[in-house]
Amino acid sequence: MRKNIVAGNWKMNLNRQDGIALVEDVLGKLPADNKTHVIFAPSFVYLHKVAKMCADTPKVVAASQDCSSNEKGAFTGEVSASMISSCKARYVVLGHSERRANFTETNDQLKAKVGQAFASDLKVIFCCGESLVQRESGVHFEWIKSQISESLFHLSADEFKKIVIAYEPIWAIGTGVTASTSQAQEIHAFIRNLLAEKYGKEVAESTSILYGGSCKPSNAKELFASQDIDGGLIGGASLKADDFLAITQSF
Ligand code: PEP
Repeated sequence: MRKNIVAGNWKMNLNRQDGIALVEDVLGKLPADNKTHVIFAPSFVYLHKVAKMCADTPKVVAASQDCSSNEKGAFTGEVSASMISSCKARYVVLGHSERRANFTETNDQLKAKVGQAFASDLKVIFCCGESLVQRESGVHFEWIKSQISESLFHLSADEFKKIVIAYEPIWAIGTGVTASTSQAQEIHAFIRNLLAEKYGKEVAESTSILYGGSCKPSNAKELFASQDIDGGLIGGASLKADDFLAITQSF
């Protein structure tokens, strides 16, 4: 059975105090029988603090929002995968559309980042997704296929078990426009089929595929009820404890 995961991508939001208060609030209200894997992805600056706060709660861990494609050295301002791992984070989010757009991250660079993450024992939440122009011109399937295959298909089936895919249509991120359940399910099924062709049914069936893009308490239940949607990568709604908590309990 694949994992149900809800990950909160805080982006460049919340200062240290507000971040700590949010995590305290969520941890304090998580039901004792919580079955969802919950991930907080705060800023690097207090990643260690958040990871430590999660340490005693089953199924709750921290992630970084990125890592360097280099192992170490003269890369001022960069943060390496081994630094992230030493802060007790368990995951790294890679290939978010904001990083692809604002920092011109390429599929090749992301392939290198995946390598760094694995070398430091981090699991990867790998983001993919199309723009509105690409969807409207019908190239979105090919685009998503190239994002996944160029950055991930060098991995062995065993390595692929450390990958979570997040499908995030760019036109739905932070816009308030959510992909319809059938639009999201269609792409998730396409991705799972792609994984089955490359790695076989077992890997495809055990890979968690998350949806991201204006996911909130009011639409999470319907989205998560879809056959191939195993949870969400949440931006805006992860900044409010009660909203994030409600999404984690929407399965
Ligand atoms: C995201 O940034 O990954 C995201 C899905 O943002 P939002 O939920 O705000 O659309």
